[in-house]
Amino acid sequence: MHADRASRPPINWYGAVVLAVTPLLAMILIPLYAWANDFTTAAWVSFVVLSILNGMSITGGYHRLWAHRAYEAHWSVKVFFMLFGTMALQNSILVWASGHRTHHRHIDDDDKDPYSAGRGFWFSHIGWMLRQYESGKDDFRNAPDLLNDPIVMFQHRYYVPLAVVMNLGVPALIGYLAGDMAGVLLLGGLLRLVWSHHTTFFINSLAHMWGTRPYTDENSARDNPVLALFTYGEGYHNYHHIFQYDYRNGIRWYQFDPTKWLIFSLSVLGLARNLKRCPEFAIEKARLTMQFKQAEAKLARKTAGHAQLEAWKQRLAQESEHFAQVMQEWSALKEAWYAEKKQQLLQKWEEASFRTRFQEIEYRLKMQRKRLRLLTAQVPA
Ligand SMILES: [Zn+2]
Ligand SMILES: [Zn+2]
Repeated sequence: MHADRASRPPINWYGAVVLAVTPLLAMILIPLYAWANDFTTAAWVSFVVLSILNGMSITGGYHRLWAHRAYEAHWSVKVFFMLFGTMALQNSILVWASGHRTHHRHIDDDDKDPYSAGRGFWFSHIGWMLRQYESGKDDFRNAPDLLNDPIVMFQHRYYVPLAVVMNLGVPALIGYLAGDMAGVLLLGGLLRLVWSHHTTFFINSLAHMWGTRPYTDENSARDNPVLALFTYGEGYHNYHHIFQYDYRNGIRWYQFDPTKWLIFSLSVLGLARNLKRCPEFAIEKARLTMQFKQAEAKLARKTAGHAQLEAWKQRLAQESEHFAQVMQEWSALKEAWYAEKKQQLLQKWEEASFRTRFQEIEYRLKMQRKRLRLLTAQVPA
C-alpha cells in the first residue's frame, strides 16, 4: 500500500485545483444564492447560450477541426472557436488536440492512451488530469500542423490571461449589461463551466463503456444516442473511432449531431470547406463485417440438433460467400478506375459510368445488410 502510494505520479495541481474547486464552489454557492435570491431569466439564458457556445467550440473546433482536420474553416470561425473553446477551460488547442490524436492512435492501450477506458470510469473521466501520468505527457510531434497555426499558437502562448478574460470578464460584462452580475457569474460562469467540463468528459468515459458497436468491436468506443443529446452529437463514438476524419459523427440524417449541422451550415455560408466524408462503401463494409460477427456468435450459442440450425448456417454461409464476391468485384472495379485515371483516359461519361457501378455495389451491400438483419432476427436469442 505504501509503496503503491509512493509510486504514483505527482499531482497535477493546476488541473486538480480547477477540477475539484469549481464543482465544489458550484454546489455551495449556487444553492446559497438561490435561497436568498431568484435567478433572473438573463442568468439562465446566459447559462444555456454560453454552454452551447463552449460545447460546440470544443466539438466543432478543438475536436473535428483541429484534432482531426475533418474540414477547413475561415479564420473568423477559427478565432470564434478559439475564444469560446478557451472559455471551456480544457487546456489549449495544441495540448488538447495532440493528446486526442494520441488517444485515437493508441486507443485502449493503458500505457499510451492518455485517457484509456481500460483504466476505469474514474480515470478516463477525470482521473487522468489529476496526476502527471506518463501516458498524459505532452508530445507535440503528432501536431506539426498545429505548431504552424498562428491562431492555435497565439492561444497556447496567452492561454491563462485569455482563460481569465473569457471565464470572468465575459460573464461579468454580460451580467453588468443584463443587470444581474451575481446571477450571470454563477450560472453563465460557474455552472456553465462545470456542466461543459463533465459533458465533454463523458465522451472519454461513458462513450467508451455504454452503447452499441455497429462498426467495429476492435476498440471500446460505443455509439450512444442518449450521450449524443448532450454532447452536441459526439455520442456516436464507435463510428467516430473507425472513421475519425469524417466531419460527421452521427451519419444518418435522423441521428442527433448538431456539430455536423453547424459545420454543414458554415460550408453553405462559405465559412467552411473541404468537408470530409468517409466513402459509403467503407461504412457499409464495416457494418456488414460486424453483422456477420454477431450472426455467427448467435448461431454458435445454439445447441446442435436444433431443427433450423443447419438451414440458418447454410444461409449465413451463402451470404458470407456473396459478401466476399462483392468485395472482390469492388477491388477489381477500383483497380480499373485507378488504371484509367493514371493514364488520364477518363472521359466525363466514363467517370459517370464508374460512379454508377460503384453505387450499384454499395446498394448490393445495403441490401445484404437488410437480409442479414432479417436472418439474425429469426434466430431466437
Ligand atoms: Zn474516444
Ligand atoms: Zn476524435
